[in-house]
Amino acid sequence: MRTRLRSTSTTQSDDADLSAPEDLDPTPGFATRAIRTGHLRTPEGEHSEPIFATSSFVFASAAEAAARFSGEAEGNIYSRFTNPTVRAFEQRLASLEGADCCVATASGMGAILATCMGLLKTGDRILSSRSLFGSTTMLFNKYLTRFGIQTSYVPLSDLDAWEAAIDADTRLLFCETPSNPLTEMVDLRQLAEIAHRHACLLVVDNCFCTPALQRPLELGADIVIHSATKYLDGQGRCVGGAVVGDAKLVGEEVFGVLRTAGPTMSSFNAWVFLKGLETLELRMLAHSQGAAQLADWLTVQPAVERVYYPGRSDHPQHALVGQQQRSGGGILAFEVRGGQAGAWQVVDSTRMISITANLGDTKTTITHPATTTHGRLSPEERASAGIADGLLRVAVGLEDVGDIQKDLARGLSGL
Ligand SMILES: *Cc1c(COP(=O)(O)O)cnc(C)c1O
Repeated sequence: MRTRLRSTSTTQSDDADLSAPEDLDPTPGFATRAIRTGHLRTPEGEHSEPIFATSSFVFASAAEAAARFSGEAEGNIYSRFTNPTVRAFEQRLASLEGADCCVATASGMGAILATCMGLLKTGDRILSSRSLFGSTTMLFNKYLTRFGIQTSYVPLSDLDAWEAAIDADTRLLFCETPSNPLTEMVDLRQLAEIAHRHACLLVVDNCFCTPALQRPLELGADIVIHSATKYLDGQGRCVGGAVVGDAKLVGEEVFGVLRTAGPTMSSFNAWVFLKGLETLELRMLAHSQGAAQLADWLTVQPAVERVYYPGRSDHPQHALVGQQQRSGGGILAFEVRGGQAGAWQVVDSTRMISITANLGDTKTTITHPATTTHGRLSPEERASAGIADGLLRVAVGLEDVGDIQKDLARGLSGL
């Protein structure tokens, strides 16, 4: 199993501080694990995790090489599938999600592809929430169909629709909660029960919440997907992803795809994400607090017609905040007067907020979904998904909220 792979060239020094999850005493808190788990200190005594910039690893003898390749002996072989820096990131993220196993990937999309390749075969069906990251929809509809894997879609929060749409070939239920951009949520505990009642797996893309706010595996999900590119990095530097779950599904099936097909995370990126995880909880709480403040301010702006934010009591699934996710998160959407022209005026009047579709950064970003992330949908498809022409999505960064408000007020005041 992957999380047990150990490098023979790294040893713990005698005064090693909390180097591996099993050494932590007795059950350390989330923030402690985010900072300490996964680092096996080398004989150099380094304090910060080292970057193992090496493509391969050497063996002491022909017999040792043979034992490693056959799987008889644990240890590093080649960085497509064994690298100590990547492993440290995997162990740390697995610990934060409450999982046995994690496989790091080159991107969030690489994580979704490796999961589908590892767990599905021709004739299987995916049942997915309709509101989905654009490239995920593309992967399901354009590419997986070529291999005989079809996907059907249901409205995210409608549990009856999920259950009714499961057929004999459905193998995997896939969702993001909260969704992008309307922050719709689904009750994960109930969705997991539905999945298991029909012998399906529940896969949750936990990109918006991260384990600091929501741990789907504890609610019954089988697999968690991450785009590490977003909040796990937290400062918009690297592209990466991860699949988190148990030793069989993730440690064997998904790991097998990674080992063979190679959508692997680089050691440098793993190191950046390790540093990101150290401040994850602090940042997620700060993003949430900023977003909550901004959402309240937006609701009293005359040019704003509607605000979508899970942390507000007027959100249709607000009850799930507290029940399954710790706070509202850092992302909100709002509809302005004047349709597309109004929305574009707000975007073009900003001087600080970044006009980009990325999210999960210290820098606040603004997106007009109807003409960017959801621009490939027909007007009818957009309308049925609730993406109005006047809708804007803001991923609230960590700047002073007053400055974010001033930057938005400039465009709003003219509407
Ligand atoms: C960005 C994103 C992805 C894809 O991740 P990449 O790292 O860009 O490949 C998947 N799901 C969600 C919800 C995302 O926001």
